[in-house]
Amino acid sequence: MLAGDRLLVAKQRMLDQHLRAHGITDECVLAAMDRVPREEFVPTPLRGHAYDDRALPIELGQTISQPYTVAFMAQAARLQGHERVLEIGTGTGYGAAVLSLLAAEVCTIERWPDLSDSATQRLERLGFRNVVTKLGDGSLGWPEQAPFDAIIATAAAEQLPQALRDQLAEGGRLIIPIGEPGAGQTMFRFTRQNGELEEERLGLFSFVPLVCQP
Ligand code: SAH
Repeated sequence: MLAGDRLLVAKQRMLDQHLRAHGITDECVLAAMDRVPREEFVPTPLRGHAYDDRALPIELGQTISQPYTVAFMAQAARLQGHERVLEIGTGTGYGAAVLSLLAAEVCTIERWPDLSDSATQRLERLGFRNVVTKLGDGSLGWPEQAPFDAIIATAAAEQLPQALRDQLAEGGRLIIPIGEPGAGQTMFRFTRQNGELEEERLGLFSFVPLVCQP
C-alpha cells in the first residue's frame, strides 16, 4: 500500500475506533478531524504515526495533543460556526486548525517563539485563513480580541486564570484542564450564565503544564 493510502486507512480507524467509539458524536467535530491532515503537523519521522490516537512529541519538550483530546475539547465547546474562539497553547497549530473549521475565527497564543513561528507558517501554507496567532503568555488571554464565545486551554493550569474568566462572553464556554503538573488533571467546562460561571467536571486527562510568567 502507498504511504498516503496507509494514512487514509489509519485516519478512518482513528475516526471510527477511537473517536466515535469513545463518545465523539458531534458530526461537525468528526468532519473537522477528518479534514485536517495531522501528518502535516507532526515531526517528519513520526508521520506514519499521525493517526495513532496518542499525543506525540514535538520540539521543545512539548506535545501535539492526542486526537481524542482535541475532539473531546472541541465537542465540549459546543461550537456552531459563528463563534470567536481563543486557544491557549498553539503548539503545532493542529488544534487551532480543527477549531478553525468549527468556528468563525480562532485566536491562538503560544509562549515559545519557535513553535509559534512554525505553526503560523504551517497554518498559512495549509490555507487555514481564519486563525490569528500571537506570541505570549496565554494565561493573560488576549484582551484586545476579547470577549470570546469559547476559550480552550491545551495546557494544564493549577487554577483558573482570572484573565480567561474575565474574557469569556455571556453564554461562552471555557474548557480547561486544571490540576497539579505530573498527575492527571480534571477537565472543566465553565459556562457564563447571567454573569456567573457554572462549573462542570468532564473527566481526567493528562496535559503539559501551562507555564505562566512570574
Ligand atoms: N494545541 C497544541 C498542543 C499544544 S501542547 C497542538 O495541537 O499541537 C500545549 C502548548 O501550550 C505547548 O506548545 C506549550 O508551549 C504551550 N504553553 C504552555 N504554557 C503556555 C502559556 N502560558 N501561554 C501560551 N502557551 C503556553
